[in-house]
Amino acid sequence: MKRQVLLLAMTIVFHAGLFAQTSIIAHRGAWKNTKVPQNSIASLDHAIEEGCWGSEFDVYLTKDDILVVNHDRDFHGLEVEDLTYQELLAKKHDNGESIPTVEEYLKRGLQQKGTKLIFELKTSKLGKERTMKSVEHSLAIVKKLKAESMVEFIAFDWDACLKFRELNKKTKIHYLNGDKSPAEVKAAKLTGVDYHYTIFQKNPNLIKEFKALKLKTNAWTVNKEEDMKFLIDQKIDFITTDEPELLKTILNK
Ligand code: MG
Repeated sequence: MKRQVLLLAMTIVFHAGLFAQTSIIAHRGAWKNTKVPQNSIASLDHAIEEGCWGSEFDVYLTKDDILVVNHDRDFHGLEVEDLTYQELLAKKHDNGESIPTVEEYLKRGLQQKGTKLIFELKTSKLGKERTMKSVEHSLAIVKKLKAESMVEFIAFDWDACLKFRELNKKTKIHYLNGDKSPAEVKAAKLTGVDYHYTIFQKNPNLIKEFKALKLKTNAWTVNKEEDMKFLIDQKIDFITTDEPELLKTILNK
């Protein structure tokens, strides 16, 4: 009986591996075809409605140590890192939303379980110390909201990635900057990489090399059908895109 159960388990694992498909991550939420602002709560809602595997968003720390969601260094002309959260409320997105705090954003995302929350910690313009402080704040808010199983971190700053790992052995952290080898990423005990797609195109063995070390692979920001197909053929784990609807159509063919 035990042997049968074991065989069944092995069969399931084998098939799951065989049919493992590339997963969709909406870049800054699903905003482009839904015509809502990038990194708004509305863009997260659309990514969830569309059934994306994950929804990515960008994070900075304000002058008064509040984590907020925004891509550029400024929010409609207001310098995010130089101002307090209250001061940033002077402007709004076109859809009427204020700049979301990470707390609000995560709380919204935690109302469901289907779409992971891909938390990009931006590198601070104020220097390394501030970036490291942002890492501490990021881990603290995820812990406070008990969001560990729903959040994966990504960052361009290598030292920030190392800090995430140093402070939390289990958190999922992927490196963005494209300049570390599979062996270096493995030695740093990161979860994997999220590299610009041209890096994988220039080195067609790279995805295989990361996979051989059991590291996850993700590519940004892939908006053209031909580039999506190249990466899907390479069996990349995730594709980050402004066109989640197009990628879904391709994957369902
Ligand atoms: Mg980003």
